[in-house]
Amino acid sequence: MEMELESIILPGVSEQRPLVIAGPCSAETEEQVLETARSLAAKGVKIFRAGIWKPRTKPGGFEGVGAEGLQWLKKVKEETGMYVSTEVATKDHVFEALKAGIDILWIGARTTVNPFAVQEIADALKGVDIPVLIKNPVNPDLELWIGAIERIYGAGIRRIGAIHRGFSSYDKKIYRNLPLWHIPIELRRRMPNLPIICDPSHIGGKRELIASLCQQAMDLSFDGLIVESHRDPDCAWSDACQQVTPDVLDYVLNLLVIRDASQTTENLSELRRQIDQIDEQLLELLAKRMRISKEIGIYKKEHNMPILQSPRYNEILEKRSVMGQDLELNTDFVKEILTSIHEESVRQQMVIMNEA
Ligand code: PEP
Ligand code: MN
Repeated sequence: MEMELESIILPGVSEQRPLVIAGPCSAETEEQVLETARSLAAKGVKIFRAGIWKPRTKPGGFEGVGAEGLQWLKKVKEETGMYVSTEVATKDHVFEALKAGIDILWIGARTTVNPFAVQEIADALKGVDIPVLIKNPVNPDLELWIGAIERIYGAGIRRIGAIHRGFSSYDKKIYRNLPLWHIPIELRRRMPNLPIICDPSHIGGKRELIASLCQQAMDLSFDGLIVESHRDPDCAWSDACQQVTPDVLDYVLNLLVIRDASQTTENLSELRRQIDQIDEQLLELLAKRMRISKEIGIYKKEHNMPILQSPRYNEILEKRSVMGQDLELNTDFVKEILTSIHEESVRQQMVIMNEA
C-alpha cells in the first residue's frame, strides 16, 4: 500500500536524530510522574511517556492507575511544556486519552497482534488528527505489523510511526525480546517514509543493555528512541530492571555517535557503480555455470549415470576452499556459496533426468 504520511515531529521538537521519548514504564503516583518529568525536561527531553493502562502477561501484576493518571500527564504538560504520550489498547482508552489532551498515542505489542483490537482503535480514531506510534507485534510477523499500520492509516491518521521493541522467544538469553533487526530493516524497505523508533528498554529488559542498543539503532538509521526512565528505577511498580534514571538516560544519549545517514560522496557512488558491475558479472557467470551443469545433466542421463557423484563434489569443495583462502576469502563463506551453487546444479539436473 502506497502511504502518504506526514511528519510525526511536533512543533518545538528538533528534527534531528534521534527523536527522544522518555518516561516511566507506568504512571504510579502523581509525585513519581511529576518528579520524573521535571528531571527529564531539565535534560532537554521534549516528549514524555507513561503507561496508564498496563497490559500484563499475568493477572496480579500492576495493571496501571487508569484514567486518574491522565490528569497527572496533563500536569506534566502544563508544568514542563513537554508533550505527553501513552498506550491505548481499547476504544475507551482512546476516548479518555483524547479527552485529557494526550499528544501522542502508542499501540502496545500485545495489542498489535490482534487485528480486532487494532481495528477498534482505528475506528475510534476516525476524524482525529494525532500522531500514533505502532509497536511491533510480540511475534516476529512483519505482515501483522504492517497490517496494523495500514488499519490506522485507513482511519485517516497520517502522522504514523513504528516502534521496534523486539520479539518474544521461548528461550530467553541475553535479551528480553530478540531484536531481529532484519525485520525493522525490511519494514524500512517496504515503507521508506515511515519513521521507526527503537525501544531498547523492552528489547534489552536490563538497563545494562540500553546504551549499546541505542547505538545499534542509530547505526541502523532509526529515527528515534523511546526509553523507560524512572526517578527510582529499582522501586518501579513495573519493568524495574530495565528502567534508568533521567541522569543515566542523559549520559547514554550524550555518548551516542550519530552518523550521517544521507551522506553519499562522489567516491562512494563510484565504488557503488563498481559493485553493481561486479554483481552483474557474478550473475552472468552463475548463469553460464548452470548452462554447463545442465549439459552435464544431459550427458549423465544419456549414459545412465547418477546425478550425485560425491568424490567430485568433495574435490570441488576442497580445491575451492584452498583457492578461497589464497584470495583471503573466509572459508565458511566460500563453503556456503559453493554448497548453495551445487544444490541448485543438482536440482537442475534432476529436472533434466525426470523429463520424459
Ligand atoms: C510499555 O511500553 O511499557 C509496554 C508495555 O511495551 P510493549 O507493548 O512493547 O511490551
Ligand atoms: Mn514497560
